[in-house]
Amino acid sequence: MRRWIPLIGLCWGFCFFPACSSPRFDILILNGTLVDGSGSPSFRADIGIRDGRVARIGGLSGEEAVRVIDAKGRYVAPGFIDMHTHCDNLRDEKRRAALNYLTQGVTTVVTGSCGSGTFEVEDFFRVLKKQGTGVNVVHMVGQGRVRSAVMGDDDRRPEENELAEMAALVEKAMREGAAGMSTGLFYAPGSFSSTGEVIALLEPVKRGGGIYHTHLRDESNYTIGLLEAVREAVSIGERAGVPVQISHIKALGRPVWGLAPRVIEIVEEARSRGLTVFADQYPYPASSTGLIAAVIPRWVQAGGRMKERLSDPDLRERILEETAANIDRRGGADTLVISSFSPHPEWVGRSLEDIAGERGKPEAETALELVRMGSPGVVSFNQTEEDVEAFMRRDWVMTGSDGSVQLPGPTAPHPRSYGTFPRKIRRYVLDRPWLSMEQAIRSASGLPAEMLGLENRGRLREGLVADVVVFDPGTIRDLATFADPHRYSEGIDYLLIAGRLVIDAGEFTGVLAGRPLPLGSDI
Ligand SMILES: [Zn+2]
Repeated sequence: MRRWIPLIGLCWGFCFFPACSSPRFDILILNGTLVDGSGSPSFRADIGIRDGRVARIGGLSGEEAVRVIDAKGRYVAPGFIDMHTHCDNLRDEKRRAALNYLTQGVTTVVTGSCGSGTFEVEDFFRVLKKQGTGVNVVHMVGQGRVRSAVMGDDDRRPEENELAEMAALVEKAMREGAAGMSTGLFYAPGSFSSTGEVIALLEPVKRGGGIYHTHLRDESNYTIGLLEAVREAVSIGERAGVPVQISHIKALGRPVWGLAPRVIEIVEEARSRGLTVFADQYPYPASSTGLIAAVIPRWVQAGGRMKERLSDPDLRERILEETAANIDRRGGADTLVISSFSPHPEWVGRSLEDIAGERGKPEAETALELVRMGSPGVVSFNQTEEDVEAFMRRDWVMTGSDGSVQLPGPTAPHPRSYGTFPRKIRRYVLDRPWLSMEQAIRSASGLPAEMLGLENRGRLREGLVADVVVFDPGTIRDLATFADPHRYSEGIDYLLIAGRLVIDAGEFTGVLAGRPLPLGSDI
C-alpha cells in the first residue's frame, strides 16, 4: 500500500523542500503489540522505520510511509539472535539465505560453536560479504580447530612454543572480528586440553573484549561429571577474567537426570559473586551429535588413530565394554537414532537397537561396525522434560538452536535447525504457562545482544537497527519433527533486517540483508 501517493499534490502546492515529496518513513508497522526485548511488559504501539533504523515508536497511524504493515493481533519484537549455531555452512553458496532460520524469525546467528569455528575469520567474513548472507553473523574462534592446526589430534600437553602458536591464532582471530572463543572440551581434541591451557588461550580473548563460549567437558558422567564441568567453566571464566557462556545447557543421560537444580545453584552462586555467567539452550529433550562423539572412548580417537585401534584384537574387549557403557549412559541403543550416514542412507531414521537387531549383533559391536564404515550422525534422546524446563525458566538462559543451515534432503537432522524459536514460543509460552512472552523474547534478543556486545540490536528502541520480527500468536509453530525434520516453521509473517523486508506476508522475498558483525562493529 503506497499511502504517500495522494500527498504529492499537497506538497506541490505548499512545500519548497524536495524531501517533502518523499514520505516520512520507509516502513510503518501499525497496531502491533510490542515486546521490546528487555523483558519489560509488552505494550501497544506503532513503529516507524527509516534508513534501516527504528526512527519512532508511538502512535503513528496518521503518518506516511512507502509501505504500511498492519500488525493487528500480532506481536512485534526484535529479530531473534541465535546464541549458538553451527551455521558456518552459510559460506556454502546454496545455503547462504539460511531460510530455515529466517522462517523462525532469526536475524542474527552466532557461528563457530563447540570449538569448531575457523580462525580465518577475515576470510570467512569476506566470503559472506561477497556472496551475501540471509542473516547477520557473529563468529567464535574454535579452540578445537586452533589446537588441531597446531598439535593435530594429540592427547598431550602443548609445548611452550605450541601454546604460543595457538594463542597467536586466537589473537589473530580476535583481531579479525571474532567475538570470543568457543571450546568443545567434550570432543577430541578439545578434551585433551587442560583447564590451564584453555585459560592461557583466553588471554587474547580478554584483551579483545570477547567471551568464553563453552561446550562443557562433560554433560553427563563420562569423565569429570556434569557438576564438576560446570564448576570448571565458571573457574575458567573467573581466572581468565572473561564472561562465560555455557553452551546448550542440559543434564544428558540417565545418571545425571534431575541434576538441573544443582547446576543452577552453581551458576547462580557464581553470578551472586559478580561473575558473568550465562547459558543457552534448545527447547528439545534430544540432542544431536556424531555416533563417534557419543559412544567411542576418547583415548581410542587420540592421535587420529581410531581406525587402527578399532581393528586391534588386543584392544577389542576393552573398547566394546566402554562403548557399551557409553550407549547405556545416553539412555540405551533405542534412544540413538541415525540422522545421517552416507554409506547406508536407508538407515537414517532408525535406531541403533533396530539396526543391531536386524544384523543379529550386539549393540556395541554394531556401533563399532558403523563407525568403521563412516561417520554416522545421531539424534540422541537423553534429557528429561523437567530438566529442560528448569533451565529454561532461569533469567540467564538464552535461546540457541545448536543447529545449522539445512536444505531439504535425504538426511534426518535434529528438528531444532528448523523449529527452535517458534517451538519455544508455541510450547512454553502459548500452550502452557511456563514462560511469559516477554521472558521468551528477551532470551532470544535482548539477553544475547547484551552478552555479545551488540549495542544496536536485540531491543526495539528508537535509533537502533531495525531488525524486527512480526509474528502471529495464533499461527506461530514449529512443524519440524524428528521423523519429518525438513519442515519450515510457520507464523513469522514479517521479518526485517536493517529495515529491509526479508519475509513479507509469510514469504521469503529473496533479499539477502544480513552481514558479518565483527566484534565492536554493530552499526
Ligand atoms: Zn556443542
